[in-house]
Amino acid sequence: MQPKPWGVLVGVRPSKQIHRLIDRGFSRNEALEFMQREFGLQEEKFALLWQICLREKPVLEESSNPQLFSIYVGIPFCPTRCFYCSFPSHSLAELGKLRTPFVETLLQEIHATGLLTESLGMKPYTVYLGGGTPTCLLPGELERIITALKEAFPGSWREFTVEAGRPDTITVEQISLLSNLGVDRISVNPQSMHDQTLQAIGRCHTVDDIEEAVSLVRRYGIRTLNMDLIIGLPGENTALFSESMQKVLALAPENITLHVFSPKRASRYRREPEKYSLPPAEEAAKMHKTALKLLKQHHYEPYYLYRQRNILAGLENIGFAQPGRECLYNIVMIEERHHILGLGGGATSKIINPDLTLTNIATPKDVRMYMQRMPELLTRREKSLRRTKELAG
Ligand code: SF4
Repeated sequence: MQPKPWGVLVGVRPSKQIHRLIDRGFSRNEALEFMQREFGLQEEKFALLWQICLREKPVLEESSNPQLFSIYVGIPFCPTRCFYCSFPSHSLAELGKLRTPFVETLLQEIHATGLLTESLGMKPYTVYLGGGTPTCLLPGELERIITALKEAFPGSWREFTVEAGRPDTITVEQISLLSNLGVDRISVNPQSMHDQTLQAIGRCHTVDDIEEAVSLVRRYGIRTLNMDLIIGLPGENTALFSESMQKVLALAPENITLHVFSPKRASRYRREPEKYSLPPAEEAAKMHKTALKLLKQHHYEPYYLYRQRNILAGLENIGFAQPGRECLYNIVMIEERHHILGLGGGATSKIINPDLTLTNIATPKDVRMYMQRMPELLTRREKSLRRTKELAG
């Protein structure tokens, strides 16, 4: 029988359990004893969660003021679709003609949401442009969106992230624009540092493109670089994955996010699994162990964690950061104690009630549906925020 390091603990956000115990005044030993007794959680996983929760605590304290909120903007377009993708992303080749009307709808949504938050006296904390791949928009379109965000949500944002997941979408023009507009964190996601794997998973870029994109990010002085890697991609083993890790570590990004392959219902993989040869669970667990060791040797510390259904070998996804360089948005998004207003395609708003329960409002993944339903979603978001304010007195 396979060991079950997470015991019977299910759910995407196991750290929320630990935060609740910390709030109730549990010591480390009391929390460990509780998690072992109630969930069969192994000590190694508990220690990881405890370390993460202590690192997250100051950010949760700073961001838990109900007047603060973060903004997530979903740009649901990518150059092509990765084989594992279940994100709300449309291939530009297929649906590029919807890009212009999407941007116009998004600008209206940003403006209307800004009027609402201003009327409620709320202040922006962090801003995150994700998707999809925001950098596959034209520079002029990105500039209009960011300028609209700055006008709608004035103030000094604590962090401003843009995902540039596909390195082949990063140009000098894009990076200099993002840098001039105050972006201070950017994600360039290799997933693997092997050309053969990149081709097998449906990405239309090479390892050289990744290195070129990183050098542009550095040249234009963007403060924090994140790079994502995935354990368990087709044809990979521990030796190949370690090479990818070493190559990424040599680029010294401030953040590294370690994902583990998890087959999603809406992905191409789920439709044709026989086409891909994934490493077995024991090999994936070995890759994970090797990665954790290398990250520790290079002084990266875990700062957020989440799990997914069907994740390979029952593992977990972990965000690592050089000391003091944690992504604030990732922490508040995972721990769900801070309002997040999700604008654009496939985004979710999370409105936090005073008792820490949530109201989730998801925008449609389909771009056409999003454009049709945006006004109705604005009304729902407004009602929910006003209700929460009333409850808070
Ligand atoms: S880059 Fe991300 S959002 Fe785009 S297709 Fe790949 S997994 Fe999906």
